[in-house]
Amino acid sequence: MSNYHIKHLEEYFQVYRKSVRNPEAFWEEIAEEHFVWRKKWDKVLSWDFSKPEVKWYEGAKLNITENCLDRHLPTRGTKTAIIFEPNDPNETAEHISYRQLHERVCRMANVLLENGIGKGDRVCIYLPMIPELAISVLACARIGAIHSVVFAGFSANALSTRIIDSDCKMVITSDGSYRGAKTIDLKGIVDKALEDCPGVANVLVAKRINSNIAMKEGRDKWLQPLLDEAYADNVAEVMDAEDPLFILYTSGSTGKPKGMVHTSAGYMVYTAYTFKNAFQYKEEDVYWCTADIGWITGHSYIVYGPLANGATTLMFEGVPSYPDFGRFWEVVEKHKVNQFYTAPTAIRALAKESLDFVEKHDLSSLKVLGSVGEPINEEAWHWYNNNVGKKNSPIIDTWWQTETGGMMITPIPYVTPTTPTYATLPFIGVQPALMDEEGNEIKGNQVDGRLCIKFPWPAMARTIWGNHERYRETYFSAYKDMYFTGDGALRDAVGYYRITGRVDDVIIVSGHNLGTAPIEDSINEHPAVAESAVVGFPHDIKGNALYGYIILKETGESRDRENLRKEINQQITEQIGPIAKLDKIQFVSGLPKTRSGKIMRRILRKIASNDTSNLGDTSTLLNPEVVKHIMDNVL
Ligand code: ATP
Ligand code: MG
Repeated sequence: MSNYHIKHLEEYFQVYRKSVRNPEAFWEEIAEEHFVWRKKWDKVLSWDFSKPEVKWYEGAKLNITENCLDRHLPTRGTKTAIIFEPNDPNETAEHISYRQLHERVCRMANVLLENGIGKGDRVCIYLPMIPELAISVLACARIGAIHSVVFAGFSANALSTRIIDSDCKMVITSDGSYRGAKTIDLKGIVDKALEDCPGVANVLVAKRINSNIAMKEGRDKWLQPLLDEAYADNVAEVMDAEDPLFILYTSGSTGKPKGMVHTSAGYMVYTAYTFKNAFQYKEEDVYWCTADIGWITGHSYIVYGPLANGATTLMFEGVPSYPDFGRFWEVVEKHKVNQFYTAPTAIRALAKESLDFVEKHDLSSLKVLGSVGEPINEEAWHWYNNNVGKKNSPIIDTWWQTETGGMMITPIPYVTPTTPTYATLPFIGVQPALMDEEGNEIKGNQVDGRLCIKFPWPAMARTIWGNHERYRETYFSAYKDMYFTGDGALRDAVGYYRITGRVDDVIIVSGHNLGTAPIEDSINEHPAVAESAVVGFPHDIKGNALYGYIILKETGESRDRENLRKEINQQITEQIGPIAKLDKIQFVSGLPKTRSGKIMRRILRKIASNDTSNLGDTSTLLNPEVVKHIMDNVL
C-alpha cells in the first residue's frame, strides 16, 4: 500500500510509526513508487552525525527536472504548471503549461551550456519573481549547474559577498523589477556588486521593465535573443543522488548568512512528499505560496515540491499592499486559489488594515492556509482563521529551516487537529528531541527544551558551502549525535510542539528561562498593539531583565503611554506571570527586519544593553533607518 497521501489521523500515526521504525524501508518505498530514476540506489541511507556525513539514495542517478517536467508531459502537457501574476493587476496574468515550461527550461538550459556553464558550476540568480526566475532555477538543475538564488531585494554588497562565497561564474538578472509603485534598478545593483567579483564571466539580462541600462561589452547579454535562437529540447544531465543541487544562504537573523548546500534525490523526495500532504494537494487545485523564490520556502514550495507533484503553482511578482491592501485576496479570488501559504509578518501587516480589504473578495475557493518563517502569534492566527479562512480552512503552522530543506513540524490539514501557535506534530520520518543544557534528552510531555532532530531526513542540508567545519560546529557539536536546530520548543500534554523562539533569544530572568515568543504573543493581544519584540538586557539583581519594543496600532497612538505600559504588563502578568513583566517598554515606529520579514532581535538586544559600537552584519536588514531611530529614543 502506498503511504504517499495521508488522509486521516489514524493513518498519520500508523505511517509515522512505520517511518521511524524502519526509515530505510519507508523512504525506499516512497522513492520507488513516486519518482522517475535513471538508475536506482545501491543504499538508501548512510549517516554519521559526528563527521557529519549523510547520504540518501547513494548510487542513484536522476535529474530532478525530469521529475518536475518531462514525466508530466504525457498526462499533464496542457495543464498549467505556473500561473504568473504580475505586479500590476492590469497586466494580464500568464498561464504556462507543463509543455511550455519544459520547452522554456530546455531553451534556457541550452543557453547556459552555450555560455560556458557546465555541471558543477555555480550560477547566481538575482531576478524578481518573474517566470525567468523559476525557469533559470530549473535550467541550472537540468544541466547540473548549482544555482545560488539571491533574493532580489538584497544590496550590492550582500550580493557580491554571496557571489564570492560560492565563486559563481555567471549572474542571471533583469533590467529592473517592479515592486508596488516603485521600480528597482537591479542591473545597476549587479554592476556595482560585480566590481568585486572578477570570477563572473557572463551576465544574462532578462527584460522586464524596459529601462535603458548599460550593458558591459563582452560580459552582459540580453537573454531573450539567446533563448529565441536556442534549441527547444535538451537532454537532461544525469546526476548522482548526492550531487549538489543548489546553495542557498540563510536569512541572517542571527549572524553571518550560511551557504547551505542541498543535494538532489533526498531533497526531491522530501519536498514532494511534504508538499502533497501538508497542502493536501489534489490534481485540479491552484496553489499559491507568497514567498519569494529567493528563500527556501520558494525553492521547496513554489518550484520543486509543487512541480514534482504536477501541481499548478502561482508566482506573484508584487507586494501585499499594492495597489491596495486587498491585493492578496484579489489574487485568491481571481485565480480561485485553493492553498495559500504566507508568513506571519504579512498576516500582521494585513491585520492592521481595514477588514473591508478582505471582505470584498470571494475567498470561498480556499481549503488550506499556511504560515512559515516565524512563530505565528495567537492574535494573528485568529485573524487569519476568522477572516481569511472563515473558520473553514485549517491553518498549518509549518516549522522548518533553510537547513532542513522541507517542513519538519506541521499539522496535516484535515488530519491533525490544530491549536493556535502550535506547529503540532512532527512530519512523517522526523524524529524531534528536546534537550536540556547538560545534553540530556527530556522525555515525556509538558516539558520544554532545545529542539534537536535525532535521525536524518532526506532533505537535510549536507554542508555549508566551503566550510564543512562551520556546519559541524553550528549544528552537530552542541549535542552528541543530534542535529541542533537553534530553536527552543515545548511539548504539551498531547505531544504537540510549540516553537518558543531561538535559543539565543531565551532570556534567563531570575533563574527562569523565558522564551520571547509567548511573551510577545501576550503583548500583541493588547488591543492597542500592532507588533512587538522582546529582548533581554543585563540587570544587577535578576541577571537579565526584559526590554520590550512595541509598535502601536493607529488606534493606540493617542493613548497615554504610561497607562499603556501598565496595561501591557498587567496582561503579561495574567497570562504568563509576573516574572515575564517588562522592565522597560519603548514605543517604536518600526522594528529592524530581515528582508524575509523577520525581526532581528540581536540588534535590539545590543541597543537595549547599550552596546551599539558593533551591531554585526546588518547586510540583510530591510529597513536600516529604523535602527538609528530606535537608538535615538532608547530608554
Ligand atoms: P539565520 O540562520 O541566518 O539566523 P534564519 O534562521 O532566519 O537565519 P531561515 O532558515 O529562513 O533563516 O529561518 C528558519 C528559522 O525561522 C527557524 O529556525 C525558526 O527560528 C523560524 N521559524 C520558521 N518557521 C517557523 C514557525 N512555523 N514557527 C516558529 N518559528 C519558525
Ligand atoms: Mg537559522
